[in-house]
Amino acid sequence: MRHIAIIGSGPAGYYTAEAALKQWGEDVKVDIFDRLPVPFGLIRTGVAPDHQSIKGVSRRYEQTALSDNVRFVGNVTIGQDVSIEELGGFYDAVVLATGAPRDRPLDLPGDRLGNVFGSAAFVGWYNGHPEFTSLAPDLSGETAVVIGMGNVALDVARILSKTRDEFAGSDIVAHALDALDVSKLRRIVILGRRGPHQIMMTPKELGELGHLSRGTPAVDPQDMPDEAEDALLEPGLRKSVNHLRAFAHNSAAGADIAIEFDFFAAPRALLGNGKVEAIEVERTRIEDGRAVGTGAFYELPASLVVSCIGYRTVPVPGVPFDERAGRFANDEGRILPGLYCVGWARRGPSGTIGTNRPDGFAIIEQIAADIGEGAGKAGRAGFDALAETRKLDVVTFRDWKRIEEAESARARSGAPREKFVDVADMIRARG
Ligand code: NAP
Repeated sequence: MRHIAIIGSGPAGYYTAEAALKQWGEDVKVDIFDRLPVPFGLIRTGVAPDHQSIKGVSRRYEQTALSDNVRFVGNVTIGQDVSIEELGGFYDAVVLATGAPRDRPLDLPGDRLGNVFGSAAFVGWYNGHPEFTSLAPDLSGETAVVIGMGNVALDVARILSKTRDEFAGSDIVAHALDALDVSKLRRIVILGRRGPHQIMMTPKELGELGHLSRGTPAVDPQDMPDEAEDALLEPGLRKSVNHLRAFAHNSAAGADIAIEFDFFAAPRALLGNGKVEAIEVERTRIEDGRAVGTGAFYELPASLVVSCIGYRTVPVPGVPFDERAGRFANDEGRILPGLYCVGWARRGPSGTIGTNRPDGFAIIEQIAADIGEGAGKAGRAGFDALAETRKLDVVTFRDWKRIEEAESARARSGAPREKFVDVADMIRARG
């Protein structure tokens, strides 16, 4: 028998568990730990609430979760309630699938001003992550600036511009829906330090911006490279650029909410008195693919700033960490003997949810080569005894199903659920 502990119940965690079942069938026991009492990580609190079809992938994880050989061990924080070393004593392999839940810092003067948020916090707020429930962004100003040209920037710009009706069928949490309902934002500027050919936005997600009821995306035609150059782009990016070309026919003037793409624009400082009021921006040009400052500066008014410039993994005491890359120091997923990482915790915050599946299968192959038939460790019985002595209040998958039922029962009409946004409420709801 092999005993595997997976830390993190998001996509990387569940795909790894699925791979372990495929590899060893009945000859493996997998425990999936999460610090929250609810599973699925990024699917629940990262994927946009109006992207329910993407969230549907959790049904696949549920099949894995319902296997007798897989357990969900919720409400347990590894590195705090139980150490990595202790887990290593019970399990043949400990796999960190903790994702990258912290914002890459902007590191600019003024980045601590009020109403400046990183996307982890802002997305967590509208998605009901207990850590960010009380964020209370002020939406009473006119202009939001979203920094970055990836899919997260698109999510944030789209959510900020949607009407209550457009959230029908989504699971955006009530506190965010109510706040957005009275938002006074009229202008959302998406700031990119490079140009239209360097965006990280995928075509389907970018195309959605063209179908909003009060948001009108606009691109300055002068920012678009010569159309002939599009032929050199890889097909996905070419499709995205086609959307930008279509947006270049729109005018932001007179739009209910103008969503303006500001290319070749590097933020240099955030300005304001206590609260952000403007961003100092330097015009750039591209040299060898990099954004280089031109020395021309301008001030962009900003009553709200959300920086969507990528994420970092949270270090765990005793686990080697690559500070520069913001993830665990690892060699193809191996960190130390018996300790592994997978998904964003291994390779950084890139790719789609599906990218984590081959990742999970690859790490299980490595583990299989390393642990053979297992070392006869205590596995879950060892952990359970420790949990008992420490009086840990473990939340099981069956408990989660009751929490889920309670969330469905209190959903507003047409919505799949109204999430509990407080850990105590989640725990209470398991009955
Ligand atoms: P991303 O795709 O890596 O984009 C980050 C953006 O931030 C880039 O435009 C980057 O510009 C910019 N940036 C980085 N540092 C900056 C700085 N200091 N100043 C100004 N701009 C800066 O990251 P993401 O949007 O956070 O997305 C993470 C991953 O999740 C991606 O793989 C994404 O596709 C995925 N995702 C997918 C979906 C979906 O499929 N629906 C939704 C959300 C997220 P440079 O290119 O110039 O560095």
